[in-house]
Amino acid sequence: MNFDTVIIGGGLAGLLCGIRLNQAGQRCAIVSRGQSALNFSSGSLDLLSHLPTGEPVTDTRAGLASLATLAPQHPYSLIGAEHVYRYAHEAQTLLAACGLDFYGNADAPHYRITPLGTQRLAWLSPPEVPVSPNAGLRVGVVGISGFLDFQPQLAAQALRKRGIDATATDIELPLLDTLRDNPSEFRAVNIARVLDQEANFTALCDALAPLSEQHDVLYLPACIGLTDNQVYTRLNHTLACEVRLLPTLPPSVPGMRMQTRLSQQFIRSGGTWMPGDEVIRGRIDNGVVTHLWTRKHEDIPLRARNVVLASGSFFSNGLIAGRDGVREAVFGLDVIQCADRTDWYRDDVFDAQPWQQFGVRTDASLRGQQNGETLANLYAIGSVLGGFDAIAQGCGGGVCAVTALHAAQHICTQGGTS
Ligand SMILES: Cc1cc2nc3c(=O)[nH]c(=O)nc-3n(C[C@H](O)[C@H](O)[C@H](O)COP(=O)(O)OP(=O)(O)OC[C@H]3O[C@@H](n4cnc5c(N)ncnc54)[C@H](O)[C@@H]3O)c2cc1C
Repeated sequence: MNFDTVIIGGGLAGLLCGIRLNQAGQRCAIVSRGQSALNFSSGSLDLLSHLPTGEPVTDTRAGLASLATLAPQHPYSLIGAEHVYRYAHEAQTLLAACGLDFYGNADAPHYRITPLGTQRLAWLSPPEVPVSPNAGLRVGVVGISGFLDFQPQLAAQALRKRGIDATATDIELPLLDTLRDNPSEFRAVNIARVLDQEANFTALCDALAPLSEQHDVLYLPACIGLTDNQVYTRLNHTLACEVRLLPTLPPSVPGMRMQTRLSQQFIRSGGTWMPGDEVIRGRIDNGVVTHLWTRKHEDIPLRARNVVLASGSFFSNGLIAGRDGVREAVFGLDVIQCADRTDWYRDDVFDAQPWQQFGVRTDASLRGQQNGETLANLYAIGSVLGGFDAIAQGCGGGVCAVTALHAAQHICTQGGTS
């Protein structure tokens, strides 16, 4: 099977790269083994929230300039601040074209409210997610009786600590009783499958109506809107006050919606989507990846002029930690890591952890290396890359988007190796 580009991994990074390559007229395939991190994410994307010093970034351009000095191995520093800034804006346009509405922009991060009622800097948030409320607002944080993945009392308490008039209430919703019978079924995604049904809208509205009379805004767990935001929009039109949605513990309804929209857009734009398969090995001749074998197509190799590795970090087994070190799972690419295991961790679990920055080493065009030799047609993107800390620096989604578009740009302009 011949393609212009084969992408290994269909998470945020692989899909954005694939959609961009399809737009450029490439014949592109994505092989993706399992669920991506999007299914477990908040649904908001981070671009750069903090510098490695811990200082919050309020101006992205200034933050990127500081990062270049503080973290020269960071993918943003390799790509260059101006390019990062441009790709971030391009990503916003691309996401909008996929039918994904977001609040926020690349110039400066905004504060979103977390499920714990605290604030966190973000680049882009779905419009349903609350951003910092005004001090005078009466906020009703609404849980669903028996649903353990969202604790309204905790969120309300944290909001009150910041001077916001917040109260916590549970609603009953007997229409969810069949799910309640089995606690492991009583999860956000299954609840959304019930609440998204037209027939159940009135019952949901009736449960919320009295609360909407007593508050200026209601925060509900994100248990609606698996495929679209119709129920959310209707609630906002029908109730006496505004409604906003807070992400819950995984699985994440907003994250799953993003995954679905992006994979649909990839297929719609002409890509070959190979879910449930995995690349098990590749052949490299003279610094060029020539063949890829997958678990389902062991006899027929995939061949492509360019290969993009978007296999994720430890979470998705793109990186594997063993006794002797960390290795990249498919090609054994060179990995940025600390040689001594005692340097992998810091004792305080809330400290920035060195292992978070482990990942594939690349050149400025994001080409991977094997034993110090740069591979001519293998690009690495997203969270398989090293040199950044998605949690401490708040840059996970941004690194995926920016590196996806940077690799696509290289492939389109100079990536042919024939
Ligand atoms: C639990 C979790 C929550 C997060 N939440 C946020 C958030 O809210 N906001 C934010 O900005 N960032 C968040 N991040 C950071 C996150 O890493 C990125 O935002 C992003 O979603 C990662 O995308 P990715 O495409 O690099 O990798 P992944 O999403 O991990 O996708 C990699 C894909 O490749 C597949 N794969 C792996 N190996 C192979 C193979 N050999 N063959 C075929 N397929 C393969 C995997 O099955 C997976 O589907 C979160 C990370 C984690 C782990």
